[in-house]
Amino acid sequence: MNARKLEEVEVDTRDIRKFLDVHDEARVTEIQGRAEKLRALVGGHTIWNVNSTAVGGGVAEMLQPMLAFSRGLGLDARWLVISGPPEFFQLTKRIHHALHGQNGDGSTLGAAERDIYEATLRENADDLISRVKPGDFVILHDPQTAGLAPLLMDAGLHVIWRCHIGYDLRNTESDLGWNFLRPYVEHVPALIFSKRRYAPTWCDPDRVVKIQPSIDAFSAKNQDLDPHSALAILVQADLVAGEPPDEGTARFRYIDGSEGRVERQAVVDRAGDPPPQDAPLVVQVSRWDPLKDMMGVMMGFVKMIERSPEIGAHLVLAGPNVHAVADDPEAPQVYQEVLAKWKELPDAVRERVHLANLPVDDVTENAIIVNALQRHAAIVVQKSFKEGFGLTVTEAMWKGRAVVASAVGGIIEQIEDGVDGCLLEDPADLDSFADILERLLKDDELRENIGTAAREKVRVQFLGIRHLTDYANLIEQLLARSLAD
Ligand code: UDP
Repeated sequence: MNARKLEEVEVDTRDIRKFLDVHDEARVTEIQGRAEKLRALVGGHTIWNVNSTAVGGGVAEMLQPMLAFSRGLGLDARWLVISGPPEFFQLTKRIHHALHGQNGDGSTLGAAERDIYEATLRENADDLISRVKPGDFVILHDPQTAGLAPLLMDAGLHVIWRCHIGYDLRNTESDLGWNFLRPYVEHVPALIFSKRRYAPTWCDPDRVVKIQPSIDAFSAKNQDLDPHSALAILVQADLVAGEPPDEGTARFRYIDGSEGRVERQAVVDRAGDPPPQDAPLVVQVSRWDPLKDMMGVMMGFVKMIERSPEIGAHLVLAGPNVHAVADDPEAPQVYQEVLAKWKELPDAVRERVHLANLPVDDVTENAIIVNALQRHAAIVVQKSFKEGFGLTVTEAMWKGRAVVASAVGGIIEQIEDGVDGCLLEDPADLDSFADILERLLKDDELRENIGTAAREKVRVQFLGIRHLTDYANLIEQLLARSLAD
C-alpha cells in the first residue's frame, strides 16, 4: 500500500453551452464536436492535472473552470494536488525566483536540494501511479511537479508539463533554475509555455507548445456587473464615497449558486474622503510586490495630477490586506514603503491617492470587489517590471477598460498598443506614464474605443473555449505522434 500523498480536488461539471452568453452557436458547437472526437481518441482514459495548491494563485483559479467545462464536455478531467515538507516548498519557491532571473533567498540549488526534491516527488509519484491507468494523460503544472515527469513516463502515461512562469531574458539565475529542472523535463513530449520565448534554449522546439492562459468570464471576478451594482459594492467596501447602499444591493453569487453580500470594508490609508462617485479613477490591483511597482504608479500619477489637476482623477492602489495574516512576507514591507512616500506628498495630491487593503477573508467577496473596482475605473494600470502573463490586464480588458501596462513579458502579446490598450515602453519612465494617463483621461472617446476593442480581443483570444481548443489540439498531436513512433 502506498501512503496517500496526493489530494484530489473536487471539480464541478459545467455546461459548455454557458458560453452562448459570449460566443455564437457555431463556436460552441465546434468545441462540442472537437470534444466528441477527443473522447473517441482518448477512449476511457482520464486527463489528470497535477499542481501544488487547490486554492490561491492563478493556476488554481484557472484549473477549476477549465476542468469543470472539460467534464461538461464528457471528458474525465481530474485534479490532484501534491504534498511535501516545508523544505520542498522552500526549494521550489527558490526555483520559481530563479526562473524569473532572481536569487530569492539566495540558497543553493545543488545535490542536497535535488535529493529533497526527488525524494518528495518519488513518494507523490508512487501514490499517483497507484491511482492511474497506463495510457492516461497527466498535465503537470510548474516546477513543483516537474520531477514527476520521468517517473510517470516510465509508468506508461502521456505526460505534458506546463510552465506558467515566464521570463524574456536569461541570466545566471535563470540558467541555474533551468539546469535544475532540465533532467526532469527535457524528454517530456510536450512542454507548454505562455510564450515560445520562455522555453529554455535546450528545449527541442518540436516539443514546445505555446498556450496562453484564459480567464473565467463567469466567475465572481469577471462576471457581468452593471455600473449601479459595481458602485454599490464599492461604496459598501468603502472604496467610493456614498450613502450605505440598500440591503438588496452589493450582492453576489458564490460558485455553488448561493447568494452573498459584501460585508467587509477595505482598510484604506487616505487623507480625506473616499473618491467621489463621478471622479475618474485610475486603478492598479495587484499583490504588494516590488515587481508590480505600486510606488511608480503613485509617483507617475502624482506627476500627471500636478500637471492637470482639473481632470479631478483619483488613484486607487489596491492589493490583498497586508494587515491580515499574509503568506507573502514581502508585502508588508512594500506597503510600508509606499505609505511612507505617500505621507510625504503635498496635501492636495495626497487626497487623491488611496492605498487600499482589500478584505481577503472570503475569496469570492474579494473577487467581486476587484471586479467592481476594475469596472468602475476609467483606466486600469499594470505597471509591472516583469510579468509572465498579466491576468489583471486581461481581466480589465474583458471589462472594456482602457488598460495602461508595461511593455514587458506576456503583456506585449496581450495588448496591441494604441488599439486595445496602451503600452508603456519603459516601465521606469514616469513622464511617459503620466503622458499616457493624461491623454487617455482627457479623451473619453479614445478610452471608449480602446475599451471596446479590448473586450473583443479577450472574447476571441482569452476565454475558456480558445484554451480548451488549444489543449484538444495538443492531445490530438501527442496521440498522432505516439502512434507514428
Ligand atoms: N488579485 C485579487 N485580489 C487582490 C489582488 C489581486 O484577486 O487583492 C488577483 C488579480 O485579480 C489577478 C491575480 O490576483 O487575478 C494576480 O494575477 P497577475 O497575473 O496579475 O499577477 P501575479 O500575482 O500572478 O504575479
